[in-house]
Amino acid sequence: MAFTVEQGSELLHPLDFSGLERSELEHAAVTLGLSAFRGRQIFHWIHQRGVSDFAAMTSLPTELRATLGARGTITEPTLDSKQVSTDGTTKFLLKLADGRRIEAVYIPDTPAQTFCISTQVGCAMACGFCLTGKMGLVRHLTAGEIIGQVRMLARETGLVASAFNLVFMGMGEPLHNYEATMKAFRILTDKQGLAVPPRRITLSTVGVLPGLERLAEEPLMPNLAISLHATTDEQRDTLAPINRKYKLKDLMDACRAFPLPRRGRITFEYVLLDQVNDTPDDARRLVRLLEGIQAKVNLLPLNEADRIPFARPSDERVNAFAAILAERGVTVSVRKSRGRDIRAACGQLLVETAAN
Ligand code: SAH
Repeated sequence: MAFTVEQGSELLHPLDFSGLERSELEHAAVTLGLSAFRGRQIFHWIHQRGVSDFAAMTSLPTELRATLGARGTITEPTLDSKQVSTDGTTKFLLKLADGRRIEAVYIPDTPAQTFCISTQVGCAMACGFCLTGKMGLVRHLTAGEIIGQVRMLARETGLVASAFNLVFMGMGEPLHNYEATMKAFRILTDKQGLAVPPRRITLSTVGVLPGLERLAEEPLMPNLAISLHATTDEQRDTLAPINRKYKLKDLMDACRAFPLPRRGRITFEYVLLDQVNDTPDDARRLVRLLEGIQAKVNLLPLNEADRIPFARPSDERVNAFAAILAERGVTVSVRKSRGRDIRAACGQLLVETAAN
């Protein structure tokens, strides 16, 4: 049996079965001298049943289970540690096969159960107020590693067979790791797998324009959240340096052209930094920027940290900003900070270990 199947551009030894789409798994099974049906069975075991051990795939012949186990893998991060916040939010520190660590967060009852997962180790975007950005990019995650977080968190929280939301809002910029992120999305939504409805998945991006344009062409896509944070190029250039490459106008044009489902909307995330981007003028400019876009705004009062050179505005300033949007007909919400006591809040994912 030849056990090397091309996966993306890499030849992986051994083959990671969990990063293959159903059609790829069927193809891999055939390459291995098995039937396509066997491929579907393996897909079902991994993604619908949440199994990460070939030995547990009891509908496969015992000998085949042993062969698969000896020659292939089902990538899954191992649990390094877990911190539970007073509000139930749980931060999982996960270890990858190469020893790198990433973080994934379980956020209960918002009102749904939500898993926030990572797409990269670190991040190259270097947003001025984000802790992960301080790490720089260490590496991309594979589709198998992205999905492995979901499988593991679903098992850990007892939600394998339940409905949950997924947000690609952990460490990393999903559109900077486009292939693996979208592959993970297709596997996660596959009806013969975990079958997460696409409308339950949100991809959050700082606005990597080529990725956004590519996403707009996808037959199946997640909800879109854009991390905007500023209303002028001058300000966005400093807060979100990717803006030096892809300007605000082009980003907004891409949003305007983005195909949305009926009643669908793009979420615009806006981190509020005290006295920096939280003035009434900023709010009014934001309203103007959003003209012609089916939008809603999610205000994120900064989660402060020692290494972040900004402050969180007072509740009064946050409310005044929100009121200006609301008065002008923009749907706005203020994100309640979950898991702050364990630094699992948005933008607070930074693995501080020697391994990274
Ligand atoms: N790279 C993607 C997804 C990860 S960050 C993106 O930029 O959208 C998820 C959200 O948390 C982004 O809107 C990000 O700007 C925000 N965020 C980062 N640091 C934060 C902080 N310290 N306080 C509040 N929100 C923060």
